[in-house]
Order: sequence, then structure tokens, then C-alpha cells
Amino acid sequence: MSWDSAAVEMDGGSGGGDWFWHREVSDGLYLIRERFFEAGKRANMWLVQGSQRDLVVDGGLGLSSLPAFLRARGLVGAKPLLAVATHVHFDHSGGLHHFERVAVHRAEAGALMRGDNYEAVTWLSDAEISRAPRAGWKADTYRVKAVQPSRVLDEGDVINLGNRQLTVLHMPGHSRGCICLHDQENHILFSGDVVYNGAMIDWLPYSNVSDYIQTCNRLMTLVNNNLVKKVLPGHFESFDGERLYNLASSYVANAGVCHKISSFAVRGIASVVLWFKNSRRQVVR
Ligand SMILES: [Zn+2]
Ligand SMILES: [Zn+2]
Repeated sequence: MSWDSAAVEMDGGSGGGDWFWHREVSDGLYLIRERFFEAGKRANMWLVQGSQRDLVVDGGLGLSSLPAFLRARGLVGAKPLLAVATHVHFDHSGGLHHFERVAVHRAEAGALMRGDNYEAVTWLSDAEISRAPRAGWKADTYRVKAVQPSRVLDEGDVINLGNRQLTVLHMPGHSRGCICLHDQENHILFSGDVVYNGAMIDWLPYSNVSDYIQTCNRLMTLVNNNLVKKVLPGHFESFDGERLYNLASSYVANAGVCHKISSFAVRGIASVVLWFKNSRRQVVR
């Protein structure tokens, strides 16, 4: 399967659906991004078309309706559409309220149901949004909404799309409910924020360095067993199994006592700032 030669880039066109950009990555698989969210921050969303149902991996900020965009482009239709959150951070979960069917890992189901903006680490500034979704919109009013999941996921669960199966791998560390979705037949891993081509973030309120080390060891085992050849991450560009191994092994190599102490300190500061920002906003509203 040629990934790059098959890529066809399309912008959203005119009309209400132009918040999103999409690109066909391979047959039945699309990368979607939010065009007006700063490139270094916006999350990747992935559409996997199945023979019986379609799957969206992550929902973005939610400033515009992703399912409406997908329907308008003819990318989804009569089949059931399920949105799976790789974790509840706002850049991935904010758009879930636009979907009728939503799945999330058990460890973060409560946060999603509460619309917990502290656990979602909601932090958005006007400078990060190059075009406001509507006149007068201000980033400071942005909040993740409460969503009732239609399915709660556990380690080993299989999401059956008919001709494709995705296995849920619970990979905590970045957050407590982080999952990767593994397409074993095609050796593809949807990795969310567990691993992408950049520094791993382990200093947020529900991050855990020890969990992250175990997760990275597990990722290295997947590569060693030839189970992952392509990684489709939550940010930035995709990469191969060798790069996955290198990213995971370098995290483990650097996650010594000094790293644990510094990430503990940064997590303390981040927790206070996020708590203040999100609780203050609740009072203002
Ligand atoms: Zn995250
Ligand atoms: Zn993210």
C-alpha cells in the first residue's frame, strides 16, 4: 500500500463546512484537521470507513460539526458512525458532542460525562484560532461539553467495522485513559497523544511517568513483534515502526529519577494553573 502516492489533498471548499481540511491517506482512510487551529496544536482526526460502520478517531475542538462536514463531503452516509476518543484532552474530545455515538476508555468516561474541563486540560487562546467560528466568538468562552458515551472501552475490546477490526490498547501515562487503536491485520496503530513525532507530554494533571514507561515498553514490544508498521498519531505527521521504537525507547532511557522529579514539579504548576483557569471560567459564566 503506497501511502504518500495515494494522498490527495482537498480543502473544505466554500460554505459552512470549510472549518476542516481532509486528505485521503489510503483506501477508506482519511486524515482530517481543523484548518483554523494553530498547526502546532491542532489534533489529527482519522476517518476509517468500514463495510458495516465508519469510525472517527478523535473529534477535535468541536467549533464546527465534524459529522456534518463528513456527510456534506459524502465521506459518511447510511452506515452507523462511531467517534472514539483516544483520550479526553480538549483538542481531541471537544467535538464529540456533535456525534450520536461516542466511545471512550473507562478511566476517562466520568470526565467526559461531567464535561470536566480540568481533566480535559482546556486551554485555548484567541491567537491559536486564525478565524473565529462566528462573529464575536472569544477563546476564553470555549469549554468542552459533557457527553454521554454510548460505549465504554476497556483493554482488549475490539471495535468491529465489518472488514476492519480495531483493538483497544490501554496506554496510560500522557493521561489516565489514553488508548491506542491497533489494526492488527494492516499493522497500523492509531496512537493519539501516547506517541507522536515530538516530545511526549507527561506533566499534565493525570499524567504518570511510571505508567508512561510501561506504555513505552509495550510499544517497543509491539514493534519487536512486527505488529506495527505505520503509526497514525494524534498530532503531526505519521511515521513507521522504527521511528515508533526510537521514540518509545528514548523516553524510557531519559525517564530517570531527575525526570520524574522535574515532571512532578511541572505537573504541580500545570495543575494549579489549569484548575484556576477552568474554575475561574465557571464562576465568570
Ligand atoms: Zn493529550
Ligand atoms: Zn493532543
